[in-house]
Amino acid sequence: MNSAKHPDKIHKEVPCPFCCLLCDDLVIQNRAGILKVRENGCSRAIAHYEQVQPEIQPTIKGKVVTLKDAILHISNILKSSQHPLFSGLGTDVGGLRSTLQLADKTGAIVDHMHSTGLTRNMLVLQDLGWMMTTLTEIKNHADLIVFAGTDAVSGYPRFFERFIWNKNALFNKNTGGRKVFYIGENLDTRPGISPDGQQPVTVQCKHEDIGEFIAILHATLAGDKVNLENLSGKRLKELKLLAYHLTNARYGVLVWAPGEMDFPHAELTIQALCEMVKFINRSTRFGCLSLGGNDGGVSAVNVSTWQSGYPLRVNFNNGYPEYDPSRFSTDNVLKNNEADALVWISSFDTNTRPPKADIPVILLATPATEPDFTPDVFIPVCTPGVDHAGYLFRTDSVVSLPLKQVRVSGYPSVKHILDCVSGLI
Ligand code: SF4
Repeated sequence: MNSAKHPDKIHKEVPCPFCCLLCDDLVIQNRAGILKVRENGCSRAIAHYEQVQPEIQPTIKGKVVTLKDAILHISNILKSSQHPLFSGLGTDVGGLRSTLQLADKTGAIVDHMHSTGLTRNMLVLQDLGWMMTTLTEIKNHADLIVFAGTDAVSGYPRFFERFIWNKNALFNKNTGGRKVFYIGENLDTRPGISPDGQQPVTVQCKHEDIGEFIAILHATLAGDKVNLENLSGKRLKELKLLAYHLTNARYGVLVWAPGEMDFPHAELTIQALCEMVKFINRSTRFGCLSLGGNDGGVSAVNVSTWQSGYPLRVNFNNGYPEYDPSRFSTDNVLKNNEADALVWISSFDTNTRPPKADIPVILLATPATEPDFTPDVFIPVCTPGVDHAGYLFRTDSVVSLPLKQVRVSGYPSVKHILDCVSGLI
């Protein structure tokens, strides 16, 4: 790295690309190319921003080559491929646009590393719809927050700091008085303790049983006849308490994380949550919030939808986009030998690993990535929101934030690589 390219600078109001909350208040110091998070970063942000970049070169089958040769080799692999698969897709809106363009040109299947969770949501949206709220609405309005199957902070560290116990809110002058409920097991409920020590209420429940609990709660709210004889006294008390607070909230929010609902047909549990929220809206204001889509996942869903008409798991092999959320998952495509080349993209998190596959693997990943096999081509790429400007969608999908460049990198962007490859095909 050339330190002359890095004048000492403090960057303020920097949006962090390392989870889908995209906190936009970080203060990052760049001193001769070494980054320090000076304010507002969580441990994940600090780990990523402050990671020292190794200096490595592109490789073909482990041998160092020029960037030009690596790009040429990728284009040759894709030209001779009949069914390529583009997956991982850890990049920003610009990188995703280029991915979709190249996928269309080469007849590829497109999927994201976090699609399994995102697809659970998509099935619910396509079937019966939902009533979603936004992070800003929660911050400014909510007086009751129910977490179903997630504690938020394990995956999205600053959620409580930014949106629940925030001091300034436009319409809720008593954010510290917010009621917090958890439904689930093995959740870190400590952040749910209010600033003045008010404990949250936790309904202990296996994640796969949340749907049943919510169905009973919904029926109770609706005044349906429900046989509650088999419920324990404790469970009945929890049910009544939650029913009371849901009905009396002025602005309630129900939060889940589809990636953490990892059991068969979890989409039905999500649908039960959404249907109950719709019902509550007959008498008060209530919204849903889904937490998920790190590594550009929410952006990937949006870009795929506006480019192809479908969310992820789209196949361009027949010359038009075909959508199948099960068949075109990365796991199924590889298991069923439906791809003959894999392009894996991961420009945010160094800990993601491409799946092992018995086909040519092209890896566009951060320089510190250590794949546990030798890919056919590896081009180290820079990170959107650190090494170059760009855009990413937040978890609530309504806001795309402009990312800032806080460091000069010698590594190319995903967009640059894919556009160069596209020009050779
Ligand atoms: S919570 Fe997420 S977006 Fe916010 S600083 Fe941490 S990693 Fe970055």
